[in-house]
Amino acid sequence: MTHIPDTNGSAISHNTAVKPLPEAYYTKFLSDLAKERRPSPIRSLFPLEKTPGVISLLAGKPNTTTFPFTSLSFNARSPVHPGQETMLSLSGDELAQGLQYGDTAGLASLLDWLFGLQENNHGRKRNEGWKISVGSGSQDLIYKAVTALVNPGDSVLVESPVYAGVIPMFHSLRCNQIEVETDAQGIRSSSLRTILEQWPQGTPKPKVLYTVPYGCNPTGMTATLERRKEVLQLAREHDFIVLEDDPYFFLYYGKAPRYPSYFALELEEPEVGRVLRFDSLSKVLSAGIRIGFASGPEVLLKAIDQHTATSNLQTSSLTQVIVFKLLDSWGYDGFRSHTEHVSQFYADKRDIFERAMKKHLVGLAEWSTPEAGMFFWFKLLLSEDNAEDKGGDSEVVIKTKAFEKGVLALPGTVFSPNGRETAYVRASFSLTSEEDVDLAIQRIRDAVLDARAA
Ligand code: PMP
Repeated sequence: MTHIPDTNGSAISHNTAVKPLPEAYYTKFLSDLAKERRPSPIRSLFPLEKTPGVISLLAGKPNTTTFPFTSLSFNARSPVHPGQETMLSLSGDELAQGLQYGDTAGLASLLDWLFGLQENNHGRKRNEGWKISVGSGSQDLIYKAVTALVNPGDSVLVESPVYAGVIPMFHSLRCNQIEVETDAQGIRSSSLRTILEQWPQGTPKPKVLYTVPYGCNPTGMTATLERRKEVLQLAREHDFIVLEDDPYFFLYYGKAPRYPSYFALELEEPEVGRVLRFDSLSKVLSAGIRIGFASGPEVLLKAIDQHTATSNLQTSSLTQVIVFKLLDSWGYDGFRSHTEHVSQFYADKRDIFERAMKKHLVGLAEWSTPEAGMFFWFKLLLSEDNAEDKGGDSEVVIKTKAFEKGVLALPGTVFSPNGRETAYVRASFSLTSEEDVDLAIQRIRDAVLDARAA
């Protein structure tokens, strides 16, 4: 029996044994490039170095005793009492691991910890046909996944508006980006169904769907359970892989994320292996430390590892040992307390931002309240009846008029896979103080009023 964490952090019981899709299933999904890649002859032998009694003359690893770093210490806030700090130190073998080349998929101890985390958060047990790879942020892994799955010119399904960081990936592969509508309940599975059911006969169907299910960047929206379930059902019916990019999972404003992830929910499917999940530590530990991780079918993760082995070789060993030292000292409960503090911080920021919107923008903008993440997505109402589509006008207002008044926000067009104009604007509320939020919203109000008067 498997337990999928549910809305209240307890568990949904899942009675059937997990049935991973067979390796051969993925052959049709791999891109030509991924199929052509060969494993690194040296890196693929790294695990054998650990064979007891074997003297390794294998890799050109430098001798870490020649390096100038002898110890590394840092202070970390207690996850339970943020006012208190503990000093953590790395030296000896632990530090040497951080100074040395390491396994392509990630530091074994960190991977081990992350397996436990995924089991706690998504009910997925290791050794059930899936694996984890660490990357230099989730962006690194998303890019590698895209190139492992998509051939130039392929059609891909992307929620729209979409995280701007994936548009250039699909664009450089000359993909046909099929936009799946979204609304306040996240991705619209009915729009996805229509697209797939009306797919022209004889044209290959898309192999991937890209979606950000919690506190979406840019819309701030969270996909409901019903939507998630229907998307998974469609993935089975129409044979595609869900690229679940979930960097805001830990920024859900509440005790526990409200809905199970796709990665958890697929345990209810007859077979598992259609979800490739991306997590990020950027929003909760440090963005600069560049640690993300992907969880999913072994074949796909191995394709990602082969890309890594031919590009950056691995994620920084040093940042991996630092992150592991911290996470190991906190334990899973400590990590949860920490992420709860962080999400409460953003929930307060959301409230401050929304208060200012209600004060200055009622009748001048429309928005939905985010439940996770760090973004407000709002539509500028540039005419009183808001009759016309003012997409292009909104872009001008936010890019020039609002900027002249001293506020910088992103026009929604930036998040449109095919460059379609939109009257929406993305505002990030992660950094701004209460006074500045108030000022910023007043400036947006003034820009809208000027545009209406013009
Ligand atoms: N996906 C989304 C939706 C994001 O918003 C971001 C960060 N802006 C990333 C991926 C990349 O995050 P990371 O720092 O883990 O590479």
